Amino acid sequence: MNNIHGHCVCGAVEIMIREYGNFVYTCHCDNCRRMNSGPVLSVDPGPKENVEFLRGGEKITIYHDEEIERGFCSVCGSTLFWHDPADNHYCMNAELFDDIIRCASFNLELFYDMKPEYYSFAGERKRLDRHFKEI
Ligand SMILES: [Zn+2]
Ligand SMILES: [Zn+2]
Repeated sequence: MNNIHGHCVCGAVEIMIREYGNFVYTCHCDNCRRMNSGPVLSVDPGPKENVEFLRGGEKITIYHDEEIERGFCSVCGSTLFWHDPADNHYCMNAELFDDIIRCASFNLELFYDMKPEYYSFAGERKRLDRHFKEI
């Protein structure tokens, strides 16, 4: 897909991914779960050249989680992205992008060793621990 549009709950922030398939993954790490009330489901558009902030850039608040930037909408609180500036790599909240989640392929779980016991996703897929070793 090309030029895939996404937006936060209030619509203040609009983001476009220039080119992407339908890959969705989840992260079970402590910080993702704490910020999102559970495992965050994400897309991985990669470099900033593949991402365009169409509207509301000034409404984005960045939380610096060590060297990682976690961006959210300062109006409605929606999680927007995880960004590693040193690696020029964006991952974004999959649920912003209706066209991706409509036909998502959910095939990776990260930080699986940090997942609490009380929930799990049905089905089989690749699972990596905090060291990116397959479980
Ligand atoms: Zn918003
Ligand atoms: Zn995480």
